[in-house]
Amino acid sequence: MAPEVDLNKCEGCGNCIDVCPADVFEMENDKASVTRPDDCLDCGACAEECPPQAITLED
Ligand code: SF4
Ligand code: SF4
Repeated sequence: MAPEVDLNKCEGCGNCIDVCPADVFEMENDKASVTRPDDCLDCGACAEECPPQAITLED
């Protein structure tokens, strides 16, 4: 699994970067970018902590 970020919903709060244990995200132009999808551990924390529900976990 790997996360996808809906950039139209992302508010740039940084929660996903803070909670991800695998350092999958980086901030780019005030939006979360999925820079290391292969490192995702499928823990679900990023999606849970995203206020606008911009993150989905895809196969
Ligand atoms: S599911 Fe967990 S490991 Fe994967 S990107 Fe989200 S917080 Fe990181
Ligand atoms: S937690 Fe959601 S709104 Fe916040 S930076 Fe990540 S994707 Fe964007």
